[in-house]
Amino acid sequence: MPELPEVETVRAGLARELTGRKIRAVAVTNGRVVRRHASAKEFRALVEGRTVKGVARLGKYLVVTLDDGGHLVIHLGMSGQLLKARGPKDPKPKHTHVVFTLSPPGELRYVDPRTFGELFVSTPPPEDVEVEVSKFARLAMSQDGLTLRRAVPELAHLGVDPLVDQIGWDRFAAILKSRSTPLKALLTDQDIITGIGNIYSDEILFTAGLRYDRPSDSLSTVEIRRLHRAITEVLGEAIKAGGSTLADEQFVDLEGRPGTYQESHQVYGREGQPCPQCRRPIERVVVRQRATYFCPNCQG
Ligand SMILES: [Zn+2]
Repeated sequence: MPELPEVETVRAGLARELTGRKIRAVAVTNGRVVRRHASAKEFRALVEGRTVKGVARLGKYLVVTLDDGGHLVIHLGMSGQLLKARGPKDPKPKHTHVVFTLSPPGELRYVDPRTFGELFVSTPPPEDVEVEVSKFARLAMSQDGLTLRRAVPELAHLGVDPLVDQIGWDRFAAILKSRSTPLKALLTDQDIITGIGNIYSDEILFTAGLRYDRPSDSLSTVEIRRLHRAITEVLGEAIKAGGSTLADEQFVDLEGRPGTYQESHQVYGREGQPCPQCRRPIERVVVRQRATYFCPNCQG
């Protein structure tokens, strides 16, 4: 499943491709991807004729701002891809569910074999309506994410986005100490920290030298600072590498290019291989039906 670095890679591509262009027409061939709307027709009417003002990201959600104040929200689910057509004759890939025809001319396709992803248009709430924003997100030092959550109430429940919201280590410490949740469960709970999933939680915890099952309120100040730094470092490096593309998941950017961060994975998917730090074998355990990779020697 695409996580923050992959979604951020798509966001950068979308911002380059869409900003300032008009969405001339939309074709929906699988209504399931616009399931929040009463019909595909309703979805189309909210998007067609609109010009794109910009593209943001919050957690694993892409937010395309339209010129009438609405927001086209896209979640790639397990296997969603946004692909730019290479020309007017470029054949549509299998499992293309939505096609955006652009002006100046161009085409963007939403492709999703497993169809867990979704697209919907959010209309801004009336000015007198107070949107309840997540208490974790309210710890943000930057206003951008809060403004976005208030404009798109469907995303107001999302916890802290490590990059958009930029919380300092001391506020991060307050979140960790407010509960006694195993670290991996906390890092992947989208209502607490948003954008991190199975791959990056394992990589972050290895970088921080912490086990997946350490209770969040058991960390020393030094450990909290290490974890806080590891989150920014790992996600930042992964974005620079264009995200991770695993053999079975086929994450690609708008141009169809895979990411390269999988080559830098220290523990994820490396069961039995030597730990990059101590050379002892990496272990794999299954927790809540999800595989977790770690070094029992380097992570405590
Ligand atoms: Zn090790």
